[in-house]
Amino acid sequence: MPILDENQLAQRFTAEFSSPPRVSVRAPGRVNLLGEHTDYNDGFVFPAAIDREIRVLAARRQDEQVHACSVDFSQRSSFDLSNFGSDPGATWSNYLRGVVSEYRKRGFEIRGMNLLISGNVPIGAGLSSSAALEVAVAEAVRVLGEFELEKTEMALLCQAAEREFVGVQCGIMDQFISVLGQEGTALFLDCRDLSFSLVPIRFDAKIVICDSRVQRTLGASEYNKRRAACEETVRLLQPRLGEIKALRDVRIDQLEENQSRLSEHHYRAAHHVISENERVLRGVELLKTNAMAPFGDLLYQSHESLKNDYQVSCRELDLLVDLAAAQPGTLGARMTGAGFGGCTVNLVRTQEVEPFQEEVSRGYEQKTGRKPFIYMCVPSQGVTSRAL
Ligand code: ADP
Ligand code: MG
Repeated sequence: MPILDENQLAQRFTAEFSSPPRVSVRAPGRVNLLGEHTDYNDGFVFPAAIDREIRVLAARRQDEQVHACSVDFSQRSSFDLSNFGSDPGATWSNYLRGVVSEYRKRGFEIRGMNLLISGNVPIGAGLSSSAALEVAVAEAVRVLGEFELEKTEMALLCQAAEREFVGVQCGIMDQFISVLGQEGTALFLDCRDLSFSLVPIRFDAKIVICDSRVQRTLGASEYNKRRAACEETVRLLQPRLGEIKALRDVRIDQLEENQSRLSEHHYRAAHHVISENERVLRGVELLKTNAMAPFGDLLYQSHESLKNDYQVSCRELDLLVDLAAAQPGTLGARMTGAGFGGCTVNLVRTQEVEPFQEEVSRGYEQKTGRKPFIYMCVPSQGVTSRAL
């Protein structure tokens, strides 16, 4: 998706709304380096914001209406603040409707505004274009309304918008990293209490996303089953381990001691979650010491665990990881996201990124008949805004 430059966007805004924009906001998508299926177990994640973003230009209106225009969907959607619901004909606008609605629930007084939206986060590819959209709109609304809002509160507000208004039961990671990410770093986040720390990424490698372009409908129902298995395991272990609230509170040795009390399926699911949390903690330490190769190994281990223990991979994702592993510049690769399709995240030596792209693309097309989409990402800054 091409992104219009600032001047073109401003011209477009003025043409759409017959008055100029007053604020310009950008908010990034993200990639998760380690920590898959850990968020809903009160666990740890380790994402980075990427150099693909949603842009919003905005200005106040004199009335009580919100007029939004999507450049990428070539569509407008407008509503009156006194009474609005979702717009089934322009589903992209539901994210901003949700954000406005959540601000109001928190007692902020929202006035009319014009919004122009465009972006280049691939949609539905697992790079979280939806969180980038929510965060960009939330920041535009904040600046126009001259509100103070803690960054963590903004992330929570955006998550609530997606859950309550759009109806997607998302975790907090995507919104959190889009607000709080910093250039050149990954963000370690404890999903239980939202404490976090930023870790510089200094190694000479690039983060490469390979989109398998398969999306199994199985995804949602299997996701719910895994979540249920995790919760059930906690209930089964509680009589033995006492005060545990989530798999986050269980160590591997405790799981192993109690293996006989669990079905094979429950044991394996828990094994993934607990070992994945450990991998995140280890990964943070390795990144701090710039230990590139061992950090890459954790990605491979994560994939094995997602494939064999959590059982959420598929033929295409395994193929992408195998093809990546066969390239000389690859340090690590794993599936990311809910599973059964979607993307892999790869760590590739900078010098070798080009041959990596060519070879993985060729190999994947040969075996599946389709070309993967491949995106190179740079760890980038969380949301920023400036007055125009
Ligand atoms: P993702 O994994 O990219 O977050 P989602 O299905 O959660 O996928 O969110 C994608 C939705 O976010 C799109 O269908 C659209 O409604 C909205 N969206 C994403 N990018 C844009 C954009 N550039 N302009 C308008 N809406 C967008
Ligand atoms: Mg999303």
